[in-house]
Amino acid sequence: MDKINVDHMLAIEEPFIKAPLEQLKRTVRQSQRQVERETAQVSAVLKTLAKGGDGVATEDMAETLNGLVGRLKALRENLEEAKQEEALLIQRSKQRAADLHELSEFESSTHPEFQRWCRARLDRVLIDYMLRSGNVVTAHKLAATGGLEHFADYSLFSLVMSTERELCEQHSCHGALQWCAENRSALRKIQSPLEFELRLQEFIEMIRVSRTPEAIVYAKKHLTQWSDTQLPRIQRAMTLLAFSPDTRCPPYKSMFDETRWEQLALEFRSVIFQLFNLPAQPLLHLLLQTGLSALKTPACISDDSTEHNRNCPVCQIETLGRLAKDLPLSHHVHSNLVCRITGERMNEDNPPMRLPNGYVYSFNALTEMAKLGGRVKCPRTGDAFAITDAKKLFIS
Ligand SMILES: [Zn+2]
Repeated sequence: MDKINVDHMLAIEEPFIKAPLEQLKRTVRQSQRQVERETAQVSAVLKTLAKGGDGVATEDMAETLNGLVGRLKALRENLEEAKQEEALLIQRSKQRAADLHELSEFESSTHPEFQRWCRARLDRVLIDYMLRSGNVVTAHKLAATGGLEHFADYSLFSLVMSTERELCEQHSCHGALQWCAENRSALRKIQSPLEFELRLQEFIEMIRVSRTPEAIVYAKKHLTQWSDTQLPRIQRAMTLLAFSPDTRCPPYKSMFDETRWEQLALEFRSVIFQLFNLPAQPLLHLLLQTGLSALKTPACISDDSTEHNRNCPVCQIETLGRLAKDLPLSHHVHSNLVCRITGERMNEDNPPMRLPNGYVYSFNALTEMAKLGGRVKCPRTGDAFAITDAKKLFIS
């Protein structure tokens, strides 16, 4: 009973270990591409200089060579920064792997060290939830208090938030497009149309401010290359040139709609999470849903609120009940009698008591109610009775 199922626990922890590894992979690839690009350009310039031979003035040659030295110095600085970032990500991966490895050493779930591990996991799950919701300062404080900085993916979430802000508040696709350019091959692999959507938005904004000739040039350069997969949408975009932003024509009205910026932000978040193997939902929700699914009964989803149990989290329809909305009902082999007033189980220590009107409540609920004047009131019918009229029932 107390044995820990390590495999089940690891299955839900996949994003925790994969996120820094994915970041590391991308950082290494970006540095590699930068080195290839810069060295190719430097060698091309050197080759031209060598070919020019004596025809090139010494001052010009010195200036070009100085330029090249400057470029290589900048490259070295960038690579040093990348190296630090890579070292940090490697260290994080090791720390996370060591944390999960601890699981195999706990013999039972009652082991105090396992309880400590669970407490730290709850904290890192809360940090993930806070970072996703934009509560960065609180997340930092919690991480600092528990010494859990290496469990928080700050740089990833700060990139998500700054790009979302740029899209929603400044109505600019600049940062998001730059990110798409850096991750083009990965986006192609998952067939994401994010870059097309961003380009389309820039095109729409040009039409909105009547920069039509510029919009046509932009479409030729950036939209037509998507014709293999997005032809109908490109055609619709070109038709948009004939409409003004105050149009009421449905498909074109929605293209001018400013809520498109929020959709782009959501799309960006969903794509970046997909690339870094992070679930769309916070891990906190997934863990809570696991517990809620074991508690959900037909009474929890009844439209009659008197059927709901005040101690049942699934019955709290405005809070945890929302998370349980799409979960299946749990499978119960044994029935439990639960008091409608207190939400407590009725058993031999807290027996069911029948009132003269036929309704049954727990002994504890009725005796608590009878403390004031010895009478009890049925919450369903409003009838009042003397506590002595309640009859004890026996479960057989
Ligand atoms: Zn319930």
